[in-house]
Amino acid sequence: MAMFDKFHEECGVFGIYGHPDAANLTYLGLYALQHRGQESAGIVSTDSKKLYCEKSMGLVADIFTEDRIKKLPGHAAIGHNRYSTTGDSISINIQPILVNFAMGSLAIAHNGNLVNAGILKAELEAYGSIFQSTMDSEVIIHLIAQSRMSNLHERIVDALQHVQGSYSLLLLAEDELIGLRDPHGFRPLVLGELGGAYVLASETCALDLIEATYIREIEPGEMVVINGSGIHSTFPFKRANPSHCIFEFIYFARPDSYVFGQNVYTTRKEFGRQLARETGVQADVVIPVPDSGVPAALGYAEETGIPFGLGLIRNHYIGRTFIEPRQTIRHFGVKIKLNPVKDVLKGKRVVVVDDSIVRGTTSKKIIKMIRNAGASEIHMRISSPPTMYPCYYGIDTPTRQELIASSHSIEEIRKYITADTLGYISLEGVRKVVDKPINYCVACFCGEYPVPFPGERMLQLGLFDKE
Ligand code: AMP
Repeated sequence: MAMFDKFHEECGVFGIYGHPDAANLTYLGLYALQHRGQESAGIVSTDSKKLYCEKSMGLVADIFTEDRIKKLPGHAAIGHNRYSTTGDSISINIQPILVNFAMGSLAIAHNGNLVNAGILKAELEAYGSIFQSTMDSEVIIHLIAQSRMSNLHERIVDALQHVQGSYSLLLLAEDELIGLRDPHGFRPLVLGELGGAYVLASETCALDLIEATYIREIEPGEMVVINGSGIHSTFPFKRANPSHCIFEFIYFARPDSYVFGQNVYTTRKEFGRQLARETGVQADVVIPVPDSGVPAALGYAEETGIPFGLGLIRNHYIGRTFIEPRQTIRHFGVKIKLNPVKDVLKGKRVVVVDDSIVRGTTSKKIIKMIRNAGASEIHMRISSPPTMYPCYYGIDTPTRQELIASSHSIEEIRKYITADTLGYISLEGVRKVVDKPINYCVACFCGEYPVPFPGERMLQLGLFDKE
C-alpha cells in the first residue's frame, strides 16, 4: 500500500494574470511561500502564444537566477513549491506540470492530496494512460485530457468531479489563469490584486511581499477564470460542508498570513492562552520551541503572567528537520537546529511550549537539552490536541503507528519525552479559538474524516496496513 504514501505532499501555489512582470512576481510569491515546501519549485509563464517552464529541485532563491527568470516571458504565470515527504524526491515530481494535449498547452500547480488518486490512476492506466510522475496531480491532467467535454473549462470541471480529497489548484492555459478550491476548502487559496492584475496565492503573506491588495478567499468549491475579460466566478461542484485544515493554524501557515479569514499569529496566540487556562502550572519562565511555538508561548505567558524567555535559539540556515525522511538524519537535525540559552534556563522551572508532538522525537531531544542546561523542572505544553490519526488531505503526517499519541496515553508520552508534566490543549479549547468551529477538519485529532479515504475502512478493520 506504499503507493498511497507516495501521493502525500504539501505545497504552496502562486499565480498572476495581467502583469508584464508575471514571472518575477511569481518568483517573489514563491519566496514568501517557501515555508510550504522546500524540496523543489517551478514557474510556468505564458505570453499568450506559448507556455514556458523553469523548475528544479531546491529552494526558490537558489533555483531562480535572473537568467532563468528571463526565460519566462509573458503577462501571466503560475508557480509551485513542493514539500519533501517520504521517498520520491525526484525531479519528475516537480510542479507545475506542463503538458500539450488536444486543446493546447496546460500547466497545473496543486496543493492538496487526492484520496482516490491510486484508484483513478489504476483505471486510467488500464485505458492506456502513461504516467510520468508519482504525483496525484497528474491524475487531474489525464482526466482533463480524456474528458469528452467540448471546452477546457468544462473538461476541468468534469475531471474534478471524479477526484476526492483536497485541492487548491491553479491552471495556466495560453491566455487564461484558472483557480479552484475543492468543495470542502481543505487548503487555503486567496485572491489579490496588483495594479489591475489578479493574483492567486496559498497565503496572504505572498500578496504582502509583492504589495498586492487582498480581495478575498476563493470560496470552497469555487472556480475562478481570469483572462482578458476580467475575472469570472462559478460554483460548478456539489456544495459540501467546509472542512478547513486546522493544522494550517497550528503549524503550517506563516503567522503573518490570514487564512480561512483569520490571522494565523493571533489564532496561535489564542491557542496559547487557552492552553494556559487548561494546563496552568507554577513556573519561572515560559519558553517557545522556535519558530512555530512562539505565538502560543507568548499567549501562554500573557495569560499566566509568567515571564516569556527565549531559552532555545534556532539556527535559521537549515531546512525544517521534519522534511528529512530518515530517522537517523532527523535525530541529528534537532541537535543542529536548536541550542539552549543556559542563562535563561539554569535553576528555573521552565514551561516549554510547542505546537505539536508527532513522533515525540523532537520533544524528547529538546527536554534533554533543557535539562542539561540546568532547568530544575520542565513542563511541556502543546498548543494542539494529541495527533492520533494520519492526515489524508495534504499535511505530512507519518503512519498511524508512528504517531506517538495513537498508541500512548498522555502519561506514557510524558515519560517517553522525560518531562516533569505534559499538557495539551483540548479539542474543545481549539474549537473555542477559531471562528465557526464546525467548518474545520480535525480528523488528525479525532479520526472523523470528512472525505473517506478509500483504504480507511479496511485500515479500521485491520485488513491491511498503510505501509
Ligand atoms: P516529532 O519530533 O515527530 O514529534 O515532531 C514534532 C515537531 O514537528 C514539532 O516541533 C512541530 O513543530 C513539527 N511539525 C509538526 N507537524 C509538522 C509537519 N506537518 N511538517 C513538519 N513539521 C511538523
